[in-house]
Amino acid sequence: MKTIIEPFKIKSVEPIYFNTKEERIAILDKACYNPFLIHSDDVLIDLLTDSGTSAMSSDQWAGIMKGDESYAGSPSFFRFEKVVQDITGMPVVIPTHQGRAAEKILFSILGGKGKYFISNTLFDTTRANIEFSGAEGIDCLCEEGKHPSIPAPFKGNMDIALLEKTIAQKGAVNIPLVIITITNNSGGGQPVSMQNIKEVKKVCQKNKIPLFIDACRFAENAYFIKLREEGYCDKPVKAIAQEIFSHADGCTMSAKKDAFANIGGFLAMHDNVLAIKCRNLLVITEGFPTYGGLAGRDLEAIAIGLNEVMEEHYLQYRIRSIEYLTNKLIDAKVPVMQPAGGHAVYLDAKEFLSHIPADQYPGQALVGALYIEGGIRGVEIGSLMFGKYDEYKKLVPAPMELVRLAIPRRVYTQSHIDYVAEVIIEVFNNRHAIKGLTITEEAPLLRHFTAKLKPVLKSPEESLPKNKQVLTYK
Ligand SMILES: *Cc1c(COP(=O)(O)O)cnc(C)c1O
Repeated sequence: MKTIIEPFKIKSVEPIYFNTKEERIAILDKACYNPFLIHSDDVLIDLLTDSGTSAMSSDQWAGIMKGDESYAGSPSFFRFEKVVQDITGMPVVIPTHQGRAAEKILFSILGGKGKYFISNTLFDTTRANIEFSGAEGIDCLCEEGKHPSIPAPFKGNMDIALLEKTIAQKGAVNIPLVIITITNNSGGGQPVSMQNIKEVKKVCQKNKIPLFIDACRFAENAYFIKLREEGYCDKPVKAIAQEIFSHADGCTMSAKKDAFANIGGFLAMHDNVLAIKCRNLLVITEGFPTYGGLAGRDLEAIAIGLNEVMEEHYLQYRIRSIEYLTNKLIDAKVPVMQPAGGHAVYLDAKEFLSHIPADQYPGQALVGALYIEGGIRGVEIGSLMFGKYDEYKKLVPAPMELVRLAIPRRVYTQSHIDYVAEVIIEVFNNRHAIKGLTITEEAPLLRHFTAKLKPVLKSPEESLPKNKQVLTYK
């Protein structure tokens, strides 16, 4: 087999600004050891997220020019609506400015105190929207999904027995819906099998609970099904995607992922009664139903991107590029989530920095080290993002301490990826010198976005956070 090449040519380029290690040490310190607070022109390779960072195609840019900006009834909306209906089979299509806006609308209506939403793993904004409504989110991830180093084909699957048990415990009437995240972003970008989706649907049907899909990476998930699940190797990706959605009652999607758009999202469903409530809220928070939170040009770019993402040469290159980096790291004995996920490489920071305890945020410490060594920006998915405090203000750590290096779609070439591998391996070889961190400032929700941290000093006394300031939102 020959090298799998990037299935595109480059027409327009953006410069990378180089800086030195000394400069990066100062920049990270100024950003309080939080990569979200670094200016992006101080970053060499930005793997913070694959969200909204895709390179759009020339067709998408042409679509941007064709976008019709009418307040009501724009033809751009009808093109967008048709594409979403075609893929999902869902008649109701509600455009929103991002995935979280779709979540906000859905969970404001269905959530509230005493309600539970069950998922394989809720993404952070999804969980935050659920909790903000007063409801509770429960993750029922399969056992193999919880062990980064054990490879399995569908580590995003739900644990069906646990799902049934949880429904029995909480009561089906208190569960407005079950939502499966495909691929499972917070659980390593791991796919969910068609078999699992069918089994979840069966449990939902038995309990009269609607099934929704968090569809941000539906095409990557569909391609994994094609590669790994029996009976799908000859099926076109689009047909697989359509089959996935045929088992669902609705979906939320961020178009900033598998639609190659820089902004956008939508909510789609079968239920016309729920749709009326959603649209009522949409008009207050996003906009008129034929544009939602988007410009006509964005609707065009999304409609085109949704079809481009299902092209198999693209998906083959996409999945291969993640696997290429993952395999290079495995060869160097770097602890990574296995097998490779769909959109990102996940370093297992608990293993990587085994000398740093969870309450000193090993994931965040690793993120800082990668930035200093090579100007690479990743994100912690561990106790900073998902940790909670118990009644004694002691940290209850997240189950995994991961560092996600998300690969933007169609943006970086193989030599960029080779450089990333070299930097990670260099950091791994010098890992014992890396120190833990302590939080000096944090917000009550989604604290990882704004938290300020500082390195833990040697004596325990010095490592106590002084002027710890907890911000509270009303
Ligand atoms: C990005 C993402 C969201 C939220 O979408 P935004 O467009 O960032 O608001 C929800 N779920 C998953 C799985 C995501 O990856």
